[in-house]
Amino acid sequence: MGTTKQSVHEGASAPDAPPPALAAEIAEADRALDGAPAGEVLAWATGRFGDRLALASSFQDCVLVDLAVRADPRIRVVFLDTGFHFPETLAYLRRVQRRYDLALDVRHPAVPLDVTPCGAPGCCQVRKVEPLAAALAGSEAWVTGLKRVDTSERSDAPVAGWDAAKGIVKVNPIVTWTEEDVDRYIVEHDLPRHPLTYVGYASIGCAPTTRPVAAGEDPRAGRWPDSDKTECGLHL
Ligand code: SF4
Repeated sequence: MGTTKQSVHEGASAPDAPPPALAAEIAEADRALDGAPAGEVLAWATGRFGDRLALASSFQDCVLVDLAVRADPRIRVVFLDTGFHFPETLAYLRRVQRRYDLALDVRHPAVPLDVTPCGAPGCCQVRKVEPLAAALAGSEAWVTGLKRVDTSERSDAPVAGWDAAKGIVKVNPIVTWTEEDVDRYIVEHDLPRHPLTYVGYASIGCAPTTRPVAAGEDPRAGRWPDSDKTECGLHL
């Protein structure tokens, strides 16, 4: 793509805007990679950012992890242990970690569980947003499993873009995928599934704010079912 490498932190631009050359590089990468195979997106990201790239996973499945380690087996994989995860999620995390010998970076909140009870205002902030910001400090880019079909807010998400909140590049290799694409990849690559997916859980977050969904129901309907909340703040 004829890109010119430039560090995220070079230049005098404010943190919420990339230096112009980097902005152009991201825009070019986004144009070239939209619709490209996810492995190609990850090959670009790992080649471009090296060890200043991190992947964030909720370990609802291991599709993105599988794709990423094919591009770079030592990619740093961040998991936000909010303290409210299902035991099945933590068991699945350990299983996937063993399978790939992952460079796993588990982050914990800086506050105890009873300071911000589950679902209280600020809960996601102290349990997810702030630990992720700490995990990404010093990184130039992060990789997420965000998909356009997830929510209306994500429907025009780019493959590569600038994350103004974090001041780094955000790469979404499976942004064009559907739930069927994810399932097909799991079957074709014989990946282990999160055990709760066998009992109706389609989108899996913290236990107190996640419920199973009925067949045909929007997978995200099972997240924060008792409120109008749709995002935890990681992708804002
Ligand atoms: S998803 Fe719910 S329990 Fe988990 S950090 Fe956010 S508000 Fe707290």
